[in-house]
Amino acid sequence: MGNFILAYGEYHNGKLHPASLEILTPLREIADKLKKKLVLFLLIEDAERLKEVKALERTLCDEIWYLESQEFKDFKDDLFGKVIAELVKETNPYGVFFPATPQGMALAPRVAGELGVGLCAHVNAFEVEGETLYMLRPSYGENIIAKLYSTTLPVMATVSLHAFPIREGNKRPEIKEITLKESVKFESKLKIRKVKPIKREPSRLTVAKVVLAGGLGLKRRENFEKLKILAEILEAEVGVTRPLYYAGWAEEDRMIGVSGVTVRPKLYIGFGISGAIQHTIGMENSEFIIAINTDKEAPLVKMAHLSLIVDAEKFLDALLRQLKEGGN
Ligand SMILES: Cc1cc2nc3c(=O)[nH]c(=O)nc-3n(C[C@H](O)[C@H](O)[C@H](O)COP(=O)(O)OP(=O)(O)OC[C@H]3O[C@@H](n4cnc5c(N)ncnc54)[C@H](O)[C@@H]3O)c2cc1C
Repeated sequence: MGNFILAYGEYHNGKLHPASLEILTPLREIADKLKKKLVLFLLIEDAERLKEVKALERTLCDEIWYLESQEFKDFKDDLFGKVIAELVKETNPYGVFFPATPQGMALAPRVAGELGVGLCAHVNAFEVEGETLYMLRPSYGENIIAKLYSTTLPVMATVSLHAFPIREGNKRPEIKEITLKESVKFESKLKIRKVKPIKREPSRLTVAKVVLAGGLGLKRRENFEKLKILAEILEAEVGVTRPLYYAGWAEEDRMIGVSGVTVRPKLYIGFGISGAIQHTIGMENSEFIIAINTDKEAPLVKMAHLSLIVDAEKFLDALLRQLKEGGN
């Protein structure tokens, strides 16, 4: 098996998805421990445009490989999957890793299926013991952390979004064009008829310095609206537990936890949140955690740096009153 690790660089229209840089952080460490080269690879319609991607100048990878074709202008999972599987067959990497973006999650199973190897989904930590790479991910209804290793090569995984911070490298990686065997046809069964950009601004929750998260202890939607007002005053972002997302109080990209996003703010305040592991996995690396809860035994209360055993609604009302009076 080859002496390098491949990381998928999700590229579109002059931009690299930040999740592709996130996965380089753990992969750099793995590559160093296993003494392998780290390669970021991209499928791109016009290699000239690589210059526009400033983030590529200082990444943690050793080399950047690209395959160029007009057919890569829009994402087509059948074509991309076929090309990546062929790249793996022809170059024999030790491992192939994708960020768990919708694109990464569509590609990784296709590639693994084509290669007939295992795939570990939604990894949020790695460990290297001797020559073995272990992948950690929540399992069994997300109640345990499973530590897995691959019995097939290349090792393949999708890596959870925001599980790792982006780090800059200190050298300019070498950029190489890769070509595949002539017999590989860059064809897709998919036809893109129209591309519609998303209208709603994506939430800034994952990069927020202060996160106010609401849970079922808020009781009423009206109280969640108060939390949003508080967030505006404090220039914070609002997050929710899964039940609040299911209740339609917030969009999916505001759900914190294993099924949602990971946050690492300087300050996280949980209002009426019990602290189930599925939630805490997504916020445990916050610098300072405050829990507002009526139950002093709640897991989040025990985990927090500061806990206030109070009714969330009364606390919110009092805080908003204070802040408004203070502002007058
Ligand atoms: C496969 C799977 C994936 C999941 N993924 C996620 C995920 O990504 N994110 C997530 O959040 N959850 C997830 N969950 C759900 C998770 O297990 C919990 O059920 C959920 O996090 C609980 O949400 P909560 O804290 O809002 O509600 P609860 O657990 O019901 O907690 C409410 C808390 O409010 C407190 N409270 C009650 N009244 C008041 C009051 N008046 N004032 C203050 N506090 C009060 C209570 O003491 C309690 O601690 C997942 C579950 C499964 C099975």
